Amino acid sequence: MADPTLDVLVAAYPDFIARYDAKDLILKNGQHIALSDGAADKTPQQRIEKADIRDMFVMPYTLGARYKQPATPADDPGRARNQALFDAMYGDCTKGQVKLKTIQWLPRLGGGSLRVTTANGVADRLEAVSRDLEALPAKFHVYLKPSAGTFNCRVIAGTSRMSMHAYAAAIDINVKFTDYWRWGGAKKETDKVSYKNRIPMEIVEVFEKHGFIWGGKWYHYDTMHFEYRPEIIALAKNSK
Ligand SMILES: [Zn+2]
Repeated sequence: MADPTLDVLVAAYPDFIARYDAKDLILKNGQHIALSDGAADKTPQQRIEKADIRDMFVMPYTLGARYKQPATPADDPGRARNQALFDAMYGDCTKGQVKLKTIQWLPRLGGGSLRVTTANGVADRLEAVSRDLEALPAKFHVYLKPSAGTFNCRVIAGTSRMSMHAYAAAIDINVKFTDYWRWGGAKKETDKVSYKNRIPMEIVEVFEKHGFIWGGKWYHYDTMHFEYRPEIIALAKNSK
């Protein structure tokens, strides 16, 4: 049975995902990942903490500057990630499985080098982002360098969930202009947070064009953070 959302997911990761059936996502290595864990009525927080494949698509992502400021914990589009899928594609950094390539970040502006995964072509995509960002007017460059980092073998602060930085499929831009949900006084993900952002949308639009989502569109915002999620971007394009 055709499922347009799963078709988009398969198309977004052609090197790793073969197909799906009524119950499972089926990877090219033969691994089956359940589409649903069967848990009914998950809260937004439970969808983030233990995301099955379906949970990744519950919160719609809006492209560009027209996104609504996230107002409830349910507004975390793209923040739910099925760990089995991302482990299978990018590898376990604690076992040295992440395939890394060094790229030059904003080379014409002296942005230094970054280590990025070659899986799913992420390193090439980030180089394309870098070229487009260099072409933006100079007033935007201060937000972009130095980068606060790409590969970092760690879990998300305060959780046991693997960070997209552990897969080397995420980048943080200049920490000097970032806003982060925990800095407003919230301690737990279930605490109330108030939204803040200083990153210009011209920068966000460049990343989105190349398949990266922005952490500034999350209730649990992290405005220097971008991660490669072509399935989320493709679905947002389809729903425009
Ligand atoms: Zn980050």
